[in-house]
Amino acid sequence: MQRTALVTGGNRGIGLEVCRQLSMRGLRVILTARDAGLGEAAAKDLSTAGLDVRFAELDVASDVSAARCSAQLISAGIDVDVLVNNAGVYKPGTVLAAPGEAFEESWDVHVRGTLRTSRAFVPAMIDRGYGRVVNVSSGYGSFGEGLDGPAAYSVTKAALNALTLKLAQEVDGRRVKVNAVCPGWVRTRMGGEEAELSVQEGADSVVWLATLPSNGPHGGLFRKRRRVPW
Ligand code: NAP
Repeated sequence: MQRTALVTGGNRGIGLEVCRQLSMRGLRVILTARDAGLGEAAAKDLSTAGLDVRFAELDVASDVSAARCSAQLISAGIDVDVLVNNAGVYKPGTVLAAPGEAFEESWDVHVRGTLRTSRAFVPAMIDRGYGRVVNVSSGYGSFGEGLDGPAAYSVTKAALNALTLKLAQEVDGRRVKVNAVCPGWVRTRMGGEEAELSVQEGADSVVWLATLPSNGPHGGLFRKRRRVPW
């Protein structure tokens, strides 16, 4: 049975590579992006290469956009089996000096964005008895690793980790697996050219969690396919 995956922030970076790798594994992929032009072009590149990828507009920071995307998929008869919450923003600054917008946007994308997509797509996964949710987080959001990043980024990724664990607890035993992943330090616009990993390497753990077998892990934070502390 062909599964369908929806990836947020799929127009570039790790999200785009996750779309490519999932479709190479035979999944139908809904590549979403907040910019329709960029998202359509990215999806076309993959579909022209023979992959089953289509575009849907989704700004995860907007209630209206999330509702529209979900309604569009329902009316097209598309069930989302795999949800990859990949969209992210990296705002520099400290707790006392970063502009308020840095916290607001990071909160809206990482936390409220994930809440929006989870509420839109996870209930139907529970009803159908299959689902995989992967929240792309960061070691910078790990208390165990010292919350070692810019304030708005670390605080909201830590909150995303908490949201991951709470959702995992809520769906426990319902055949929906919910995990978070740190892709590592990856060469993207966010990670920069000096980063240690290629996008292919960074996407690996995300794709692994998105395609877990029924005996795979649930309710954890992973890097390079290994559990790391919350
Ligand atoms: P990236 O190249 O900067 O890509 C970020 C993606 O998120 C872009 O597609 C961007 O869209 C999208 N996005 C931002 N706000 C959005 C919104 N409101 N709605 C929908 N999409 C939105 O970053 P990346 O390195 O691929 O990062 C992907 C994920 O990995 C992020 O969650 C990031 O925090 C995490 N991560 C990355 C690294 C690293 O070293 N790269 C390390 C740890 C964790 P636009 O093109 O429209 O801006």
